[in-house]
Amino acid sequence: MFEKRLLLPHQYYYPHMTFFGDRSTQEKEEDFLSAMNGIEQNRKATIYIHVPFCNSKCAFCGFDKEYDLDEMEAYVDKLCSEIDYYSAILREKYLIQSVHFGGGTPALLPAELLQRILDRIKSSFNIDENTAIDMEGSATTLYRDDIIRFITDNKLTRVSFGVQSFDEGVRRELTMKATLDELLYTIKILHENNIIMYGDILYGYPEFFPGKMLDILKSDIKTAIELELDGVELGQMYPYKNALERIVRERGLALPADSEIITMIKYATESLLSAGYSQSTYSGFTKQGKIILETSYYGGIEKMPDCIAFGSGAFGNIAGYKYRNASYSVYMSQPTPCYGQLKALSSEQIGNMQIVGFPKVLVLDKSLLEASSVKARFADKFARLIEEGYVSETDKLYRLTEKGSYYIDNIYWYLLEEEEKEIISKELTIFISERQ
Ligand code: SF4
Repeated sequence: MFEKRLLLPHQYYYPHMTFFGDRSTQEKEEDFLSAMNGIEQNRKATIYIHVPFCNSKCAFCGFDKEYDLDEMEAYVDKLCSEIDYYSAILREKYLIQSVHFGGGTPALLPAELLQRILDRIKSSFNIDENTAIDMEGSATTLYRDDIIRFITDNKLTRVSFGVQSFDEGVRRELTMKATLDELLYTIKILHENNIIMYGDILYGYPEFFPGKMLDILKSDIKTAIELELDGVELGQMYPYKNALERIVRERGLALPADSEIITMIKYATESLLSAGYSQSTYSGFTKQGKIILETSYYGGIEKMPDCIAFGSGAFGNIAGYKYRNASYSVYMSQPTPCYGQLKALSSEQIGNMQIVGFPKVLVLDKSLLEASSVKARFADKFARLIEEGYVSETDKLYRLTEKGSYYIDNIYWYLLEEEEKEIISKELTIFISERQ
């Protein structure tokens, strides 16, 4: 059924916002504001705070970043005014389930600026002691004394950082700023302070070292287990819209074949499961059995909470609207709120979100499919996925099989409407392996 594996860009989450068609306009913003004012109380939401500052130039990174660290204080001022704006409308309406600082590298901010943001969030929204608070950082920031104090004083649920690889050769090729020594030191300091830490590990690099790439992944997984990371987030490297694309082209490097990628996923999954980790999402393995909190995971078991997103380039999802804030320079120079794109979702799209995103969370509650306005179309597709061995079913759930877990993005793609496929084919680069 799926002849070649697909890899969608990490930034793609259904539904896509088109560059021109979904630009924000004053009229759309007025409609969005009135939809927010009309929300009934006691809804659930997550909060995402984007901090774009970064001090590394990792070759694989396609995120919006900002290197002028002198602007950090002004950025936090801007964030606080955005928090005030949404709080005035939404404070009484939402119970906040989680707060996530993402980036960039949020831990680059001095602790007092992080504290300012967190205090403002806490005093502006319904947050209690059960609200999970987590933060991304890096091996050049998380060991700092002020950051450790910020994490422990505020009882952050966890921190995460990009390990990518423990192999020094690969780290050099990926032009990561943090050295291996810094990475190991950071892990040691986090352990000493009893801080829960998740590390990102990449696989599927171009063949920097031909014939050795599987061994490098094996060694990375073994090291992550030995160093007792509390969670591991596995990600396949995406070789477009980043410096890696140029490196691959100029050096004529081969990208791994599907069979090699499948061997890597299988090896990593089996090793982590047998070391006592449980699989929380298609890519997330945790020792604590906690779901990895990602505002961008759609679908699955329960109704997706809204996401109130703050900061340049941040994606939010409130009251049936999906928005993306303007990129850094526009965000900093224009009045708040400052949207780049804004899209009113149809009720069909809202229902579909739960379903097309299900491969990322491994299971789908059948009642969500029942509630879909196009359940007949999905029912046929699920019947085919079951017949081909990508999905299994129980009375209440659809569940991805092991075979399905190697074809996450193919399944995601298969469940999209034809119109959505056409749009994203035009606007996004979809990686299809050339080697088999
Ligand atoms: S540290 Fe993170 S945000 Fe910065 S370049 Fe590397 S991957 Fe991108």
